[in-house]
Amino acid sequence: MLDQIKKASESGLVICFAGVGSAFAKKNAQTSMIIAKHGKTILVDAGTTIPVALQAKGIRITDFDAYHFTHSHADHIGGVEELLLLSRYFSKTKPTVIITEVFQDILWEKSLKGGCEYNESGLLRFSDFAHPLRPVWIRAQPREMYHLEVFGIDLVLFRTAHIPGNVAQWERAFWSNGLLIDHQVLFSGDTRFDPALFDDLYQGNPKITHIFHDCQLFSPGTVHASYNELKTLPGALRNKMHLIHYGDTYDQVDAVGDGFAEFAQPWKIYRLE
Ligand SMILES: [Zn+2]
Ligand SMILES: [Zn+2]
Repeated sequence: MLDQIKKASESGLVICFAGVGSAFAKKNAQTSMIIAKHGKTILVDAGTTIPVALQAKGIRITDFDAYHFTHSHADHIGGVEELLLLSRYFSKTKPTVIITEVFQDILWEKSLKGGCEYNESGLLRFSDFAHPLRPVWIRAQPREMYHLEVFGIDLVLFRTAHIPGNVAQWERAFWSNGLLIDHQVLFSGDTRFDPALFDDLYQGNPKITHIFHDCQLFSPGTVHASYNELKTLPGALRNKMHLIHYGDTYDQVDAVGDGFAEFAQPWKIYRLE
């Protein structure tokens, strides 16, 4: 399957989801996105269920050219320890990880260190396992953003308002980010309903054709955008919106009838031209 994605990406940007589910979904693997261009691949998020979802398609978690993790929840990083340990002890490689210094500290100190620090000799650090690739800080307002170009893919990382649930603005939220990919694809990451996100990113980027957006099927939305909240957005936004990070009751909802593009489908190859 990875070869198929790489081949499709020879002519340009391709997006494909290994999982489109919420943290607790069982019908779909947790939301994880593959970005591919000119045969190079980036895996965005690797939750606990992702190594198995990849294996079902003949892909190992170590098979990607680079990785990016949006925040510390296990449905986004539960597979990262496996990536780091397999890379160090089996494939003897250091995966390239697109990560800011701020989030690297959070990810290592609060999540990965417990399983990775004590190994063959002394105390290991994140940089013993991975090669960090640093996005460059662009601006603080109206929303903090970082930029990086890798494999000819233009990436803008932007902060989102995800956790805790009583925080409406990204400034007061714990680290979580979304991505603008090649000025064309807006990937929300995990976020509360945050209409300012569209003012900050969509309005200034007329080339955006696809919005992959976090969607919680039940209400109220607390740390995720609820389906009913997303339904209040203008039709011009909704019809570009492919819903991701959704729970198992999606077959009870008519997303297309409600003006959305669709519920994003796992392993569908989205060609952006
Ligand atoms: Zn999540
Ligand atoms: Zn989350």
